[in-house]
Amino acid sequence: MEHNFAHFREMLGEVIDLQLAAAVLEWDQQTYMPEAGAQPRAMQLGTLMRLAHARFVHDDFGAALEQAKTSAAQMDPDSDEAGIVRNVQREFQRQRRIPSDWVAEDARTTSLARQAWEKARAESDFAHFRPHLQKVIELRRQYAGFFAPYDHVYDPLLDVYEPGMKTAQVRTVFGTLRPQQVELVRQIAERGLPVDASMLHRKYAVQKQWDIGVEIITDFGYDFKAGRQDKTAHPFTTTFGVGDVRITTRHDPDYLPSGLFSTLHEAGHALYAQGIGPTLDRTPLLAGASYAVHESQSRMWENLVGRSRPFWNHYYPRLQKLFPRALGDVDVESFYRAINKVERSLIRVEADEATYNLHIMLRFEIEIALLDRSLEVKDLPQAWNQKMQEYLGLTPPDDAQGVLQDIHWSSGYVGYFPTYALGNLIALQLWEKIRSEIPDLERQIERGEFGELLSWLRQNIHRHGGKFEPADLVRRVTGSAITSEPYLRYLRSKYGEIYKL
Ligand code: ZN
Repeated sequence: MEHNFAHFREMLGEVIDLQLAAAVLEWDQQTYMPEAGAQPRAMQLGTLMRLAHARFVHDDFGAALEQAKTSAAQMDPDSDEAGIVRNVQREFQRQRRIPSDWVAEDARTTSLARQAWEKARAESDFAHFRPHLQKVIELRRQYAGFFAPYDHVYDPLLDVYEPGMKTAQVRTVFGTLRPQQVELVRQIAERGLPVDASMLHRKYAVQKQWDIGVEIITDFGYDFKAGRQDKTAHPFTTTFGVGDVRITTRHDPDYLPSGLFSTLHEAGHALYAQGIGPTLDRTPLLAGASYAVHESQSRMWENLVGRSRPFWNHYYPRLQKLFPRALGDVDVESFYRAINKVERSLIRVEADEATYNLHIMLRFEIEIALLDRSLEVKDLPQAWNQKMQEYLGLTPPDDAQGVLQDIHWSSGYVGYFPTYALGNLIALQLWEKIRSEIPDLERQIERGEFGELLSWLRQNIHRHGGKFEPADLVRRVTGSAITSEPYLRYLRSKYGEIYKL
């Protein structure tokens, strides 16, 4: 029995090694690779991903998995072994339906599409990206086809990021959330209370931005001995093992929040990955429970901690000292209001908490329309601009600030966006629980102490990695299904106070 499991773990480990080697190449592509490296890199990624996939779906692996299942059936369902088998079994059934050729073609396509997107975004030229996106979407339709019959063509794509979640459930949650968020944004606009955020657009030396970011995330508990930070156009976190969790960031010398909050955000993802139990190394459980659960962690550190008053009561004097010319005449309360200013805006990653989910809902509807063919890729920029007008009352001046702003579609991540909004909701469900169990949390944050918060997250969320399905994990920890109520309570309380509603 022991032997069965060791054999299964070794075969699984080799698949994960191949996948993580590909992840190193992707990280390199986005950080240091010269532009001319795109073609050979696409081939390398295609080969590695095809090998990993072919090994994983091979009958030999299937046989080892069957034996491990027999062993796991006699174990505690909460044990690592049982969790690994559950997770791998689900993934095995999914991957077996995907032909290896599709995997290789998808890896090559998205590798080139990512490169094309970068150029298209830099030049605000959708036409340059369009043929690549057409291919990506066509591959997504093929992918959904591998899982027919389904309730909704979007279900198989959503399931990649949010195991067990259905399109209908997301529609229900968003259906409750949207009118209330739209109403809150309307009330804030109508109240007309001016919040001055001009100081955020002063000059902020990039190196100093980098330094304060490093200082804060070190205080959070991000371990630089088991990670590193680099610069990319689109910040991300990538995990090569529990001992190697890397983040990237970007800085705008004329806008402080851009770099600062993306650093905090990615550190939130990285804290999750660094906290996964070491016994889960070389397994898919390293990826965490789901993208929404991952996002609950990043948004928690970015917003619930990083945009809170106690947090800035602690860090603001330090920030002011670093940037005396930009912030010398600004008190902490004005700064707090500025970083929480509610404004209908064009760019998702820079949106405030009150409008953020509207950006997500727009993308969710567009993805569904692209998949069910009610929208063609060539008509995408107009469709985007129309929805922006409808949801946020704005029209992007160019496609770089519109449909080209996000990297996701170029990477084939269709079905991913809803996890951001779901992550916001989970973050607040967890936060209410944490506040009830750590009554002096705010005072700890005010002292720059995050140890107890991180321990709570490690104990309840991080260490399990992908051992439990997201809905199961959220229920275990909070006693509830994924719901928007705590999030709406939070928004009403925070913005009600700032805008005197
Ligand atoms: Zn994130």
